[in-house]
Amino acid sequence: MSRFFSEKYAALTPYVPGEQPRDMQYLKLNTNESPYPPIPAVVEAAREEAARANLYSDPTALALRQAVGARYGVSPDEVIAVNGSDEALNFAFMAFCDDRRPAVFPDITYGFYPVFARLNGVPYEEIPLRDDFTVDPEDYAARPGKTVFLANPNAPTGIFLPLAAVERIAASDPARVVVVDEAYVDFGGESALSLVPRYQNLLVVRTFSKSRSLAGARLGFAVGQAALIADLETIRNSTNPYNVNRMTLAMGKASLENDAVNMQNCETVAAVLDQTAEALRSLGFTVTDSSANFLFARHPAIGGEALYRKLKARGILVRHFSLPRIRDYNRITVGTAEQMKTFTAAVREILEDPS
Ligand code: PMP
Repeated sequence: MSRFFSEKYAALTPYVPGEQPRDMQYLKLNTNESPYPPIPAVVEAAREEAARANLYSDPTALALRQAVGARYGVSPDEVIAVNGSDEALNFAFMAFCDDRRPAVFPDITYGFYPVFARLNGVPYEEIPLRDDFTVDPEDYAARPGKTVFLANPNAPTGIFLPLAAVERIAASDPARVVVVDEAYVDFGGESALSLVPRYQNLLVVRTFSKSRSLAGARLGFAVGQAALIADLETIRNSTNPYNVNRMTLAMGKASLENDAVNMQNCETVAAVLDQTAEALRSLGFTVTDSSANFLFARHPAIGGEALYRKLKARGILVRHFSLPRIRDYNRITVGTAEQMKTFTAAVREILEDPS
């Protein structure tokens, strides 16, 4: 740290993204990326826009917001475009939390929430998930006035909270915002988008990173009633009005125009997830009931970190978290059927020779 660093950030521990090693070619099952590249029309859209990169991108992202609106039956003024859904989450912490409106989220969830809270000087409470890693909606109903952040399906467990429970939380206190982070909802579960017309306090955050094969393009969006979106626009226009570059805006639009391909890929991933979960269970793993594009699994005979290391030595990356409650587990991104065969074969070998 330099002597110039602001005191208000001195104690900040940044979020640590999944490792992206360059030393060798790994089978990457650690950052929940799609195994499928974007379709040629999406790549071509970026190429065409690159020729106009001397010009700023549209600061209103209108064409993309219209495409999202058409896809989901909402008006463009109910949509904000963001540089990855992480940006929408940060904007929500900035816009809807402060000393009088602390944040609340589960103890086991997306690790960026506490980082955003601390970055923005927002007090927060972490509520333990039940022993089976499910959310008890009453925990949140019992904390009126606190801005709620819920990943649904949750990460890294993949467990989906039924929509009735999301609605219970949104209805429990109309005076606080409930942010539902649906990064993985296209792989299973049910979106809370249908609740937006009835709840002024509901913000649904989505991403193109996972289900639309665009993690590297950095594109997300959030949907809520127009007043809520206008608040986020105030934050966006006060930080970075050109937050989404023109190549990415064009890719996002082309991606939505070909969304059937994306949704088909999600179905394939979901089917491979089921097969892989079954294979892991037959090897003795406990596997959570995941509605996402990853599995969360532990084995009684080998620790989470040990398995992570042995897989890495074999060229396979999964994600291990050292939080005490989940350190026996690994989070395994679901790739193609072929990749998951390679993965389960490696796991079987490791279990056969635990030395
Ligand atoms: N929410 C959750 C639950 C995630 O796992 C991720 C991916 N790390 C994100 C949001 C952010 O995704 P992106 O910024 O790529 O849209």
